[in-house]
Amino acid sequence: MVPPPGRLTFAADEKRLPWLALLLQVQHITDRGVAAALRADGRKLACARGCANCCRSHVDIPVYPLELMGIAWYVLEKLEAPTRMRLATQLANHRAIDACPFLLDEACAIHPLRPMACRHFNVFDRTCAPGEDAFHTRPGEVLRPDRQLKHEALREMLRHHGVHDGRERRRQVETGEVHRLAQSLREIRWENLAARLSAGTQVGAAGES
Ligand code: SF4
Ligand code: SF4
Repeated sequence: MVPPPGRLTFAADEKRLPWLALLLQVQHITDRGVAAALRADGRKLACARGCANCCRSHVDIPVYPLELMGIAWYVLEKLEAPTRMRLATQLANHRAIDACPFLLDEACAIHPLRPMACRHFNVFDRTCAPGEDAFHTRPGEVLRPDRQLKHEALREMLRHHGVHDGRERRRQVETGEVHRLAQSLREIRWENLAARLSAGTQVGAAGES
């Protein structure tokens, strides 16, 4: 039995940064969508801490503006100093790194705040081989998150973009228009975040990254 995932809570930060509460809610819905699919499937996931071939082989990971704000907040304000310094170096050089710039010691340095795409991507039966993208090599062994909850998470995220009308949010999600908001994680110029890490900056209420 897969227990329902809890919602991450950072009460003081959510009070200071209202967008953070929305992001954590979106992530909670996303995680519920994964848990529901796992319960329905019944197979065992191969994914585990220290297994990170996907963080090297996936070069097109979409990341939405709200998620970017959450990542910046997390690395600037929640990571321990030694990890921040190592990450700053890695982010500054990310174009030369053959992996996601948040992969440190075979683990995701931003795991609690990792993007929806990473939360969704889970593989059954056996771990991915180096360079393998299981979505292409064995799609039947890739978990399909619960569609309703996946759409609900995306609809909630649209509130961040000022889209509050339920019918319009539904339209943007069902037509895929919402995905136009995303950037590719590997294409982002993380040097800016590296510089802020080195300078010890905090995130403001607008959450600029
Ligand atoms: S998706 Fe593949 S490489 Fe990534 S954690 Fe799961 S089994 Fe490991
Ligand atoms: S954000 Fe984390 S989980 Fe996603 S690809 Fe990068 S290291 Fe892997």
